[in-house]
Amino acid sequence: MALFELRRVSKTFTQRGNPPFKALDDVSISIDAGECVAIVGESGSGKSTLARVALRLLEPDGGDILLDGESVLAMPQGVWNQRRLSVQPVFQDPSSAFNPRRTAQSSLEQAIHQCVPREPAAPRERALELLENVELRPAAEFLARYPHQLSGGQRQRLGIARALATRPRLIIADEPLSGADVSIRAQVLNLLLDLRDRDNIAVLMITHDMLVARALADRIVVMHRGRVVEAGATRDVMNSPTDPYTRRLLDAVLAVDIEP
Ligand code: ADP
Ligand code: MG
Repeated sequence: MALFELRRVSKTFTQRGNPPFKALDDVSISIDAGECVAIVGESGSGKSTLARVALRLLEPDGGDILLDGESVLAMPQGVWNQRRLSVQPVFQDPSSAFNPRRTAQSSLEQAIHQCVPREPAAPRERALELLENVELRPAAEFLARYPHQLSGGQRQRLGIARALATRPRLIIADEPLSGADVSIRAQVLNLLLDLRDRDNIAVLMITHDMLVARALADRIVVMHRGRVVEAGATRDVMNSPTDPYTRRLLDAVLAVDIEP
């Protein structure tokens, strides 16, 4: 059984004056425990809509979302409020993801307090451990920092630390590298790889960048105009894409890629 699954999910936006717009059209994806799946597609292909639906920030019009084979949409809000802690988001812009008036310690402890069962360690000790996990060191020094006292890359890592606070089994990361410069991108990418390898946390990585997908993912799902146009093992999709759109995405990056 898959850890998490979107099954034939659709989402149409209706705006006054515009015809209805199908942002997600019959999308199915699944992810196993400890697996990294990349959702790739150019801007406007529906990736963020997919992330928001998967996190239940947006209700789909049709289809189902399953966690451990159980329908998330059918869960009473109270049940979901607990179960959702095992599915955590990491967003693109870490500066808007934090309350500017909270220190790192306060943000992390807020997340730690949600845990059921309760963390055995004192919240401060657990917060230190989380900062160590994302290599914000010396951790004790970072506890007292406010978001504006962190660099972009440090904020992104704090965002990951906070996502880890509830001991998730799945992280849904929507373009977590887009705002960052090249060296920070590599750090965050390596951190996400470590989480998978060390803690067996599944990662659903949403990116417009085929090379990021290749570096991180076990499987790649290609989206185009709200539909899945290709899905397969990373090696297969990279080496022998079947869909013309995937081929175009690949040609665009391979033209500037010097590695084999
Ligand atoms: P991506 O993340 O791949 O760039 P999005 O999921 O953000 O794509 O958007 C897909 C399409 O849905 C875009 O054309 C966007 O304009 C449209 N869209 C997204 N959110 C809304 C909304 N709340 N209302 C209307 N249209 C939306
Ligand atoms: Mg997006």
